[in-house]
Amino acid sequence: MTIPDLNIAKFGGTSVANYAAMTNCAKIIAANPATRVVVVSASAGVTNHLVSLANTVLSHSQISETLEQIKHIQFAIVNELATPENITEKLTSLFEAMETLAFHEELVHRDDLKDSLLSFGERMSSLLFTEVLKEQGVNAENFDARNVLRTDSVFGEAAPQIEEIKKLSSKVLLPELTQRVFVTQGFIGSDEQGRTTTLGRGGSDFTAALLAEALDAVSCEIWTDVVGVFTTDPRITDAARPLPELSFDEAAEMANFGAKVLHPATMEPALRKDIKVFVGSSREPEKGGTWIVRDCKNEPAYRAITRRKQQVMVTVKTPKMMLAQGFLQQVFTIIAKHNLSVDLVTTSEIAVSFTLDNPANSVAERLNRETLNELRDFCEVVVESDYDLVTVVGNNMHSAAGVSAKIFSSVGNYNLRMICYGANPHNMSFLVHQDDSTEIVKELHRTLFE
Ligand code: ASP
Ligand code: MG
Repeated sequence: MTIPDLNIAKFGGTSVANYAAMTNCAKIIAANPATRVVVVSASAGVTNHLVSLANTVLSHSQISETLEQIKHIQFAIVNELATPENITEKLTSLFEAMETLAFHEELVHRDDLKDSLLSFGERMSSLLFTEVLKEQGVNAENFDARNVLRTDSVFGEAAPQIEEIKKLSSKVLLPELTQRVFVTQGFIGSDEQGRTTTLGRGGSDFTAALLAEALDAVSCEIWTDVVGVFTTDPRITDAARPLPELSFDEAAEMANFGAKVLHPATMEPALRKDIKVFVGSSREPEKGGTWIVRDCKNEPAYRAITRRKQQVMVTVKTPKMMLAQGFLQQVFTIIAKHNLSVDLVTTSEIAVSFTLDNPANSVAERLNRETLNELRDFCEVVVESDYDLVTVVGNNMHSAAGVSAKIFSSVGNYNLRMICYGANPHNMSFLVHQDDSTEIVKELHRTLFE
């Protein structure tokens, strides 16, 4: 069974931050009968509060205070509902369970408890939003994502199990979709033992794409607070402008290389199943947004510029490296053993430098003392931080004439610590000092887009 034209709509934290914002979202849903599954983030600010409860040792009164701040955000919405009594009981039991966990003695030491605590943000917002939708006349029902979103047991950054998700959704969700609109939680899932997991910060986009894949949807809308994906972060330059279309490849590169609008894994399901992804503003839906599709009408050499902050560069050096066989292999074996993923690499006769991929949505400190000590057993290691990675995203960048010349001419006056070019036709990256990155992005934007 499939639903023709099925659309999955996801609403981010600012879109469900308060009653007025939720009402805008409800209107968007009511206007499109193809929208049958709605995925929500936690109300803006809530997950940050939960993360601080989970990761910091706090006094009893600090914990109570943080819980009060969370309740304050949610009660502001409850108080505007026409019939709050419809959900008081459910909401109260969510609050109680959240409090019990927040005061749990082992919380800061146990990743499974942390994930359970983090899940309350989306569980509360989805409950409230279902009620707002009903007020707008939509036949809506709250659905627990953990019934279908099966993951492995890597708490904090769980990996979805695609086949299981497909099986479970086809069984429990799909047959019901003709009847009503289901409102579910982004970001959370459960493992085989039924324990709550999370997909990493910003993971609600990923949930929406995974459900779109599992339910054979034709489109997946990501509603946020910006009118689409921009040529660069509009906070860096006023000249940034929204892009009407992007390809899956370009969007994936942009998310990987620091564009904040999409969780980096979001494009994977879209790519596998050729699902169109839309990004737009729930406050100004009439302004349109960006459509991310497999084949764009045009594929320009440059599409956008991204920046990823706080990069760490590691340089390993051994006098024996000259002609030494297996040195690189030894280095990368250690890196892989510690689950680190190398991002950019440059080599010279006696030294190798690389940056480590510290996904924007990961809270883990990746490069630990243990890794460094193992490397230091056989080589000199220098770790430098204070770098940003600036990336130009586009198409056929290695073959289009004059592309690199144009890019280099505009950054020629800056000290570029690493350049990565040619391994992939969709990007060209520079590692630059963090103090220079804003100017470099502005300069590149001027040269390429203005
Ligand atoms: N609420 C989660 C976060 O803030 C997931 C999301 O919003 O996508 O990271
Ligand atoms: Mg988000």
